[in-house]
Order: sequence, then C-alpha cells, then structure tokens
Amino acid sequence: MAFELPKLNYAYNALEPHIDARTMEIHHTKHHQAYVTNLNNALAGSDAEKLSIEDICKNISKYPMPVRNNGGGHFNHSMFWNIMSPNAGGEPTGELAGAINSAFGTFAEFKNQFAAAAATRFGSGWAWLLVKDSKLVVSSTPNQDNPLMDVADIKGTPILGIDVWEHAYYLHYQNRRPDYVAAFWNVINWNEVAKRLKEAK
Ligand code: MN
Repeated sequence: MAFELPKLNYAYNALEPHIDARTMEIHHTKHHQAYVTNLNNALAGSDAEKLSIEDICKNISKYPMPVRNNGGGHFNHSMFWNIMSPNAGGEPTGELAGAINSAFGTFAEFKNQFAAAAATRFGSGWAWLLVKDSKLVVSSTPNQDNPLMDVADIKGTPILGIDVWEHAYYLHYQNRRPDYVAAFWNVINWNEVAKRLKEAK
C-alpha cells in the first residue's frame, strides 16, 4: 500500500494572517505531495512498502538517501499540519504545561529556546520539541531529518515541529524567518501537542 497525502483538517486560508493561504496550498499540494510521490517511487517493490513511516524513520540509516529525504518529508509535514489549527495559540495547560515548566523553567524560556533553534538552523531544516528519556528537549535537524531517525544527533519522539525551509514562509515573510517563527505561536494546536506527549510516554 502506497503512502498518501493526508487531507488538512482546515482550509488553506484558515491560518491567516499568520500563514498565508498561497503558502499553505503550495506547501501541501506541491511540496508534501512531491515527498509522498518520491517516497513511493523509492520504496516501490521493496518490503518497506508495508512499514509505517515511523518505523522507516527509526531505521533510516538502512535506507538510501531518497528514502531519508522523502520519508522524512512525509512524516514531518504530516505532523506539521496536525499541530497547527485556526483559533489556536495561547499557552499549553495541564500535563504538557507541567512538563514544559519542569524541563525549561518557564513557558517563556521554552519559547526562547525553540525560537533560537529555529532561527539558528542554517539553511533548510526543522526545529523540534521532543520527548527524550521521558523529558522534553528542544533540538533542530537539517533537511528533512527528524528526531525519530537513528541518524539524528538528539533522538526521541517529536511532539511539536516547525518547518524552517524557505518554502514554508518566503512568499509572505521573505527572508524574515524570525517573524515567521514568532507568528507560528499563534497557530499551535496545544491540544494536539498534549496528545502526542501522552502517546510518547
Ligand atoms: Mn516544508
């Protein structure tokens, strides 16, 4: 069974003014679709076609580079669409808030570290909030790598990620990546992040 482009739970313009409709549409229908198509082509006829994208990521060092790039692209974007939503943002509550405070001291300090990871990732990549040994950690990865991958410097289960490839923000923000990262806080679906924290533990 081939991998498929997931549908979004909201309209392309639903995240405006923070992320514009044109960026969302191109990002989903062109970029993510290309990762799915290229992943399916790279895996065609192999046993890995039966595996989950998570299991492929966890053993990514055993696969050729097209699987790493496109499989990572498929996992990362599938998660990215789900951890964003309209009428979102604000601050997390409950267990997630407690885990953030216990790892970073305050929500503000977590935001500083996450934004710094997103801003300082040179070139294309992602910044992450992940569960590592039952504790929350911030990291970043190049290209379409992610913390699930056995090749990642800091390995764990990602529960929040921001795409800092220029295709994620250039139409609206041009070279102003920090402005895009600042706007991202307004569209984070903390309920979904909290759900992923529970599943990761
Ligand atoms: Mn992207």
